[in-house]
Parts: sequence; structure tokens; C-alpha cells
Amino acid sequence: MDLRNIIRNVPDFPVKGIQFKDITTLLRDKDAYRYAIDRITRHCENLNIDFIAGIEARGFIIGAPVAYNLKVGFVPIRKEGRLPYQVEKISYQLEYGESILEIHSDAFPKGSRIMVIDDLLATGGTTLAVFKLIEKLEGIVVGADFIIELEMLKGREKLKGYEIFSLIKYNI
Ligand code: AMP
Repeated sequence: MDLRNIIRNVPDFPVKGIQFKDITTLLRDKDAYRYAIDRITRHCENLNIDFIAGIEARGFIIGAPVAYNLKVGFVPIRKEGRLPYQVEKISYQLEYGESILEIHSDAFPKGSRIMVIDDLLATGGTTLAVFKLIEKLEGIVVGADFIIELEMLKGREKLKGYEIFSLIKYNI
């Protein structure tokens, strides 16, 4: 299935110059959504994953059904102030300014093997911050899975040494 035709490109959102990849057109298509979830599930099989960690918010929509398919637990990585219990946090640079992500301190047992899931890999800054957060809690990061990879931003280079997988690559 060619998901490229199903993902909507929105120029100049949220700011001028950004080509926003809108996955809502994929999510509303029952066959495309199922296909994307099943492909990512298949990539995770045989990697001995104990938990899927999804990055708020689109990483939840992709990550939770993959965790369900794999019969493993789901760990939410959330924006600052949303998780109710004790948290570990990390701040990281965005294109403009910085952002903070949090995980519950008891999200998984030490030594758990974790796959991170988000909708899109751009510069890799967000994913690398999540890897550091998981490693702070002594989890083993297996890698990260995405629907979309913006190859020209070279996020993959920032994530060397990990298992990185994406369904569709864009070069513009
Ligand atoms: P990065 O940290 O640069 O890899 O950015 C990844 C995060 O920003 C992901 O959570 C994406 O959902 C979001 N993102 C970055 N660029 C885009 C884009 N062109 N279209 C849609 N989402 C994007």
C-alpha cells in the first residue's frame, strides 16, 4: 500500500516554510491505519520488546495499538505537568526555544527492553531526548519506529547505534 498518497501535506503549518505531514488522513482510512500499525508491529516482533513508549500525542495513536498487538505494556512520554505521579524529566532544544518531556519514575522495571514510537522523525532531537530519559531510568532502548522520516534532516544520524525504522521517507 502506498501511504504517501494518503498522508496530507500542509504547507506553512504551523509556521511559514514548514511542510507539515498530516496523518489524520491516514488515521481515518481504516485499511491504511491497520496497514501502518501492522507493519510497525511486524518490525518489533523478534526484538524481544518489553514495553512500547509513545511520545505525546501522535505517538500514542500509533504506539498503543502496536503495544496491544505485541501483548506488551505501553508507557506514555508526556509534555511537562501532565503526569500525576513522580516523574523524571528532560529538557531539549526545539527549532525555536526548548521543551520538556516527562516519564513516570516507575514506568518500567530496570533492564526492560523498550521501543519508542512517534509519528514522524525530523531532526531526531525529540527521540534522542526520550532515549536519554529511558536510559536515565536504566531501561534498554532498542530503537524507534515512525510512520514518516524526513531524510534530509538526518535524524537517523543522531540516533546511531539504535534500531531505527520508518514506513515512508521524504527527501524534500
Ligand atoms: P524532531 O525532534 O525534529 O525529530 O521532531 C519530531 C517531532 O516534531 C515529532 O513529534 C513530529 O510529530 C513533529 N514534527 C516535526 N516536523 C514535522 C512535520 N514536518 N510534520 C509533522 N510533524 C512534524
